[in-house]
Amino acid sequence: MRLLLIGAPGAGKGTQAQRLAERFNITHISSGDLLRQHVREQTSIGQTIKAYVDAGDLVPDAVVMDMLRKPVVAAVESGGYVLDGFPRTVDQAKAAFEVASALGVAVQAAVHLDVPDDELIRRLLARGRGADDTEEVIAHRLHVYREMTIPLLDYYAGREWMFTVDGTQSPDEVEQDIEGRLRKLAAFDTSQGRGAGDPG
Ligand code: AMP
Repeated sequence: MRLLLIGAPGAGKGTQAQRLAERFNITHISSGDLLRQHVREQTSIGQTIKAYVDAGDLVPDAVVMDMLRKPVVAAVESGGYVLDGFPRTVDQAKAAFEVASALGVAVQAAVHLDVPDDELIRRLLARGRGADDTEEVIAHRLHVYREMTIPLLDYYAGREWMFTVDGTQSPDEVEQDIEGRLRKLAAFDTSQGRGAGDPG
């Protein structure tokens, strides 16, 4: 199974990705976690991107794409992936589709976790993870989400393999919703006909 989780910071992507990974025996790949790990370990990627991550800005597409290639290919070989935090822009989605469809590993479903801004801000302030969870940076990250990622949702809108779930529910309810929708999709059989993720 190959899944995408799309949602604003604080929407619960990490929590749900972890649950889906366990449920379907697939690998959870979080672009944000991987990037933060590079920053912590002060790798050359980490040094290049620290300022972006700390400011709540998106890291350049090429860096993210290069970083994800190996883990995604490895995940596909061991049963599939749930990608959390990628793609985040229309350009990333288009570039990833090109690469993934050539390899036969394009996504089968995209889940949009929908949570209103006031709830996102409440959750992010409570989480207080680090440099990118201060009040100022949170506001900026939500702005970046609106500017860069909402257009991605518009771009995917109307595809049968993309659906929205109410992310204000309890984690258990969100998980049940997602699983129910995935079951419906599976019945529809996304492996037939047009590949999921394709632009049109
Ligand atoms: P996240 O934990 O997914 O909210 O990501 C934390 C930070 O990592 C973001 O604020 C960005 O700076 C960076 N990041 C994560 N995923 C991406 C991506 N797909 N494209 C660009 N930057 C990303």
